[in-house]
Amino acid sequence: MTQMDKPALIAQLSAIVGDKAVFTDEDDMAPFLVERRGLYVGRAAALVKPATTLEVSAIMALAYENDTIVVPQGGNTGLVGGQIPDTSGKAIILNLSRMNQVRDVDTNNNTLSVDAGVTLAAAQEVAQKANRLFPLSLASEGSCQIGGNLSTNAGGIAVLHYGNARDLVLGLEVVLADGRIWEGMRGLRKDNTGYDLKQLFMGSEGTLGIITGAVLKLFPAPKSRATAFVSLSDPVDAVTLLRSIEDECGGAITSFELMPRIGIEMVTAHVADTHDPLEVPSPWYVLVELSSGTARDDLTSQLENALADAMEKDLVSDAVLAQSQTQAAALWKLREAMSDAQRHEGGSIKHDVSVPVSKVPKFIERALAAVHADLPGIRPVPFGHLGDGNIHFNLSQPVTMETSAFLDQWAHFNKIVHTIALELGGSISAEHGIGQLKRDEMAALKSDVEIELMRSLKRTLDPKGILNPQKVISV
Ligand SMILES: Cc1cc2nc3c(=O)[nH]c(=O)nc-3n(C[C@H](O)[C@H](O)[C@H](O)COP(=O)(O)OP(=O)(O)OC[C@H]3O[C@@H](n4cnc5c(N)ncnc54)[C@H](O)[C@@H]3O)c2cc1C
Repeated sequence: MTQMDKPALIAQLSAIVGDKAVFTDEDDMAPFLVERRGLYVGRAAALVKPATTLEVSAIMALAYENDTIVVPQGGNTGLVGGQIPDTSGKAIILNLSRMNQVRDVDTNNNTLSVDAGVTLAAAQEVAQKANRLFPLSLASEGSCQIGGNLSTNAGGIAVLHYGNARDLVLGLEVVLADGRIWEGMRGLRKDNTGYDLKQLFMGSEGTLGIITGAVLKLFPAPKSRATAFVSLSDPVDAVTLLRSIEDECGGAITSFELMPRIGIEMVTAHVADTHDPLEVPSPWYVLVELSSGTARDDLTSQLENALADAMEKDLVSDAVLAQSQTQAAALWKLREAMSDAQRHEGGSIKHDVSVPVSKVPKFIERALAAVHADLPGIRPVPFGHLGDGNIHFNLSQPVTMETSAFLDQWAHFNKIVHTIALELGGSISAEHGIGQLKRDEMAALKSDVEIELMRSLKRTLDPKGILNPQKVISV
């Protein structure tokens, strides 16, 4: 069947979700048509906000029947343009924010079942009220949604201990391109009955199905925590420190985040209520956190001992251990504000690469040398999840350069940085996904076999190409 005209489409959508949940006015739709960095601005025929899985199913059946493009959207915090439609104005945005019900908390099974539109912060809060932990944690957690987190296989600050988003899921409910519902809300820790279909949808960025519900794993709530901010002279020492803390403290290490001096300077200059916790400036810092589900573990003493050992070995020059939750939060603020602080320094070209943890120092050394040689005055701010080998190798513009002239070099610097990551066995997208931003670059990097497998999956699950087309892979 061919596409129905716009008034008929709007009437049918309104019949499914009600007039108040369909938006066509440009001003109403505007915030949903642009992503946060302003890199992509799209247009849409309508924005629709279903409240139930059955409504999503009816919308997809209608779209399938009429060849209408559907772009799923959660909290619109994605950083690669996956949630933004193209500029044709033909797509409908299917925003999941009204699907925000907690379906079940089963503390004996340690699971939390939610609608996909529940925000990450709300899911964490429900877990906490049940004396459990849902450990996924990102700076965007107040806005991003579980459906978005799973569709992007989000990472964040606790991957070292708990894994990525896909590791935190036992079951999924998914609406397929033609409107059929796959009911896979199983809370099983063991289930080897055939292919693990849920894994297909996680990390597929809304190109294979609409995630409408999830069964999430819960963990014992941490009863003790220790947080330290450590100064050191280079990333080589940081990796040695990571392994020596692991030796000393076993599996308690939850986060291990690297930050450069320039990043701390940007945060303390631009972000309210932040200050440098150490007196003497240092080229590099690490924020390390230990946590444990038992109150008996004296993590502060363990971390203190590990850091004292490290100081004796000259791995660490100075350190401060948080003495309260408030102090720990102040230390975390330095890390969490690092991305935002770069906005105040003009244009910033972003990278989200990963390499094996052992190769992070070599990656940083080579990438720093390459970008400095290419553009004198450039201000690299490499920071992030060192414990996962994931560095956000962001580049702030030279102070005196025109912002637009610098940002015009986005692809040029991506090539420099990505080439080095790839030569070291790394990835050009560690945790943010592919979306529109890296689609062509990914296509050029993967083998023919891998691309063909991905295309076969896309054609099988979305034969009419209506689900978030031109994102991740072109068919
Ligand atoms: C300040 C900040 C910090 C961040 N920190 C991190 C970080 O540490 N680690 C990290 O991994 N990411 C991080 N991000 C990126 C972003 O928050 C994550 O990618 C998040 O998982 C996206 O969730 P969302 O609900 O906003 O999804 P959206 O941005 O709305 O969508 C993202 C993608 O998922 C698809 N999608 C959304 N919902 C569904 C659904 N229900 N079914 C199918 N497809 C869907 C969209 O089509 C799109 O392709 C950060 C972003 C910001 C702004």
